[in-house]
Amino acid sequence: MDSRKVGVLGGGQLGRMLAAEASLLNIELLILDVGPSAPAKQILAHDNHIDGSFSDPTKIRELASKVDILTVEIEHVNVDILSSISSSPDFKHLQIHPSPDTIRIIQDKYVQKRHLEEAGCPVSKYLGVEATEEGVQGAINELGLPLMLKSRKLAYDGRGNYAIHSPSDIPSALSALQNRTLYAEKWVTFEKEIAVMVVRSASGEIRSYPTVETVHKDNICQLVFAPLRVDNPTVEERARIIAEEAVRTFTGAGVFGVEMFLLEDGTIYINEIAPRPHNSGHYTIEACHSSQYSNHLRAILSLPLGSTSLKVPSSAMLNIIGTSSSFSDVQALSTQALSVPGATVHLYGKSESRKGRKMGHITLVAHSDAELIANLRPLLLSSPALSS
Ligand code: ATP
Ligand code: MG
Ligand code: MG
Repeated sequence: MDSRKVGVLGGGQLGRMLAAEASLLNIELLILDVGPSAPAKQILAHDNHIDGSFSDPTKIRELASKVDILTVEIEHVNVDILSSISSSPDFKHLQIHPSPDTIRIIQDKYVQKRHLEEAGCPVSKYLGVEATEEGVQGAINELGLPLMLKSRKLAYDGRGNYAIHSPSDIPSALSALQNRTLYAEKWVTFEKEIAVMVVRSASGEIRSYPTVETVHKDNICQLVFAPLRVDNPTVEERARIIAEEAVRTFTGAGVFGVEMFLLEDGTIYINEIAPRPHNSGHYTIEACHSSQYSNHLRAILSLPLGSTSLKVPSSAMLNIIGTSSSFSDVQALSTQALSVPGATVHLYGKSESRKGRKMGHITLVAHSDAELIANLRPLLLSSPALSS
């Protein structure tokens, strides 16, 4: 298909699913990640992967020297090096997608919120907070209780969030988030969490996937339903427009995951944006004409974008989340899903299981919502992460 090589910073499950798609298009992907058996490296048999951190300047330069296009499967990368590479004459022919500017804005969630607010995108109230008792008390005075205290950087799966319900929670919040720069968000009493994946080509063409519902427990995404089912008929399209407009404010090609809150009165706020394939878009592999991974590759390689439409009436994605260091729960749920009609099991090949760690997922497709729910129910009942 294309002789250009793509380098990916990060080799977790998103890199692995990107790699699976790259193999279909016969595109060579080189992965930079610490482990020689990182999930993405396991399924790409060649000797050009790099063992090292996506924060390590030397390793990032080494990867950049071997490829035509650099992309990320995680936003917590060393963006200063990406910026310096993008302006260096030594890397004149290299493209970086999305742009280092985009990654820089998004990786600091406070800067991201300010960027979105200044661009006119809907976000709820937030404040920069000094990491002291007085600082947090000031945020409570301003935004009320409960309050969501968040780390500005290196946050994922809620590791970086602390919900404050009373001023007496402040010391434990500060100790849980020590050594991190903080900001606070007003508590959003949402009816549902929703998300839209958006793909943007290098020439600026934008396509969005259907709006989906995401269900979180303990700050971790557990379930995704596509398409979104709500009574208010304007929500699906409004959410897509908000997501597309938000993505237009960033530069560079690729897919973006736009997480949003839907309030009871129909108000939609953006929670945060990921500049890469996203958990809420895993379902697109089985349920859409072109998956988020296919469209990410097409976008960064300037190939024709694929259709973002659903090809099934109803679908859901259930994360397989570790409960302990034992793999037994993960194996039991995966094995059970193999007998469920319309289910596809994805296991990420992580070498260790931990409580709260995403170990795999199951996608279900069905001819109707009723069929979907009937097939999903037994899996939900045996999902240890949901029943505990
Ligand atoms: P991710 O893995 O999606 O990157 P993260 O660590 O960046 O997660 P957030 O997306 O900020 O964390 O928050 C995780 C979850 O916590 C949200 O999906 C939502 O359920 C809840 N949450 C976050 N912010 C708020 C808020 N302001 N009000 C109420 N709930 C919130
Ligand atoms: Mg996040
Ligand atoms: Mg999030």
